[in-house]
Amino acid sequence: MPMNQVAPAVEETRVTTRRRVLVTGGAGFLGSHLCDALVAAGHDVLCVDNFYTGSKDNIAGLLANPYFELIRHDVTFPLYVEVDEIYNLACPASPVHYQYNPVQTVKTSVHGAINMLGLAKRVRARILQASTSEVYGDPTVHPQTETYWGHTNPIGLRACYDEGKRCAETLFFDYHRQHGVAIRVARIFNTYGPRMHPNDGRVVSNFIMQALRNAPITIYGDGAQTRSFCYVDDLIDGLIALMNAGSATGGPINLGNPHEFTIAELADVVIELTGSRSTLVRRPLPSDDPRQRCPDITQAGAQIGWAPRVPLREGLAKTIAYFDAQLKQGVWASIGKPGE
Ligand code: NAD
Ligand code: UDP
Repeated sequence: MPMNQVAPAVEETRVTTRRRVLVTGGAGFLGSHLCDALVAAGHDVLCVDNFYTGSKDNIAGLLANPYFELIRHDVTFPLYVEVDEIYNLACPASPVHYQYNPVQTVKTSVHGAINMLGLAKRVRARILQASTSEVYGDPTVHPQTETYWGHTNPIGLRACYDEGKRCAETLFFDYHRQHGVAIRVARIFNTYGPRMHPNDGRVVSNFIMQALRNAPITIYGDGAQTRSFCYVDDLIDGLIALMNAGSATGGPINLGNPHEFTIAELADVVIELTGSRSTLVRRPLPSDDPRQRCPDITQAGAQIGWAPRVPLREGLAKTIAYFDAQLKQGVWASIGKPGE
């Protein structure tokens, strides 16, 4: 090229929508489905997990993919990586698991949030917190809207989880106000599906395991308490939609299925779908067990255009098929009672 000619501007050849996405708790139930969805969407996914409740089996299908990396790491310690987005899911979610080591549960929620928010601040990443309907405690408002401040017991057995998650929300909003970190807060209601831990003590996994083994189905209390169950695929769509939403949508946003069932009704449906010979047995209601829970998802519809699609029977049928296959393959031969 003659010296007096100006070189043409170099075309940007690496323009891509591929983002580097960190998923903490990525080997867990929700995290592994999220990793699947993000890799399938063409992103470069970094999964961080300490395998407290998660498992390599959950992410086995991703390990050979060059756009998936796994780091064994505890989020209560700082992490130095370069990413564009962070989904902070690391935290045991079932009462059996989060009450096993309550101090560690608080550390995971609070120190984990501080570490991941510090990382987001340093690398200017957008960060989403997997918060929970438990921030509403045993609610006095029904269905629960995001404007409701909740009714939690700060010193009870569930407090390590509920108050840890509430403090994490506080940290997210303070990092946003004080440091301009781009945050998204999802309040996730009871979610179920394949890859739930078989003995995490949660009601869906318990009932399915009991029904498939023709063992007594354990109803805690009178079974009149309610929950609203969201199928995992719907929930993952909601998390990704919230992350991708415009900056006006920081949340908190309720994500869950607004169809409410009593626990006794859930037991009947599981028995019917499995064709089980199980009988029902009553067990004491755990302390601080919320009586009624159902999300108001008006904001999710208005702000991110999201609503769940999978009805309970359809989602339960898929979940039962997964549990049945795992049991038949002997994968869970040594699984005992919840928490063992
Ligand atoms: P899960 O127990 O299957 O997954 C949690 C993952 O976090 C596991 O892989 C675990 O090993 C990992 N983990 C725990 N402590 C860690 C630490 N200190 N450092 C690194 N990794 C750690 O639970 P889940 O159901 O997949 O829940 C995921 C997130 O969603 C949690 O934050 C939970 O509070 C939230 N959530 C879940 C539900 C639900 O119904 N599943 C409802 C509300 C909120
Ligand atoms: N539950 C039950 N039998 C079980 C496990 C749970 O009746 O074997 C009840 C539990 O007391 C609660 C509801 O089912 O009222 C949901 O419990 P889970 O632990 O799944 O979720 P969370 O209470 O955290 O919503």
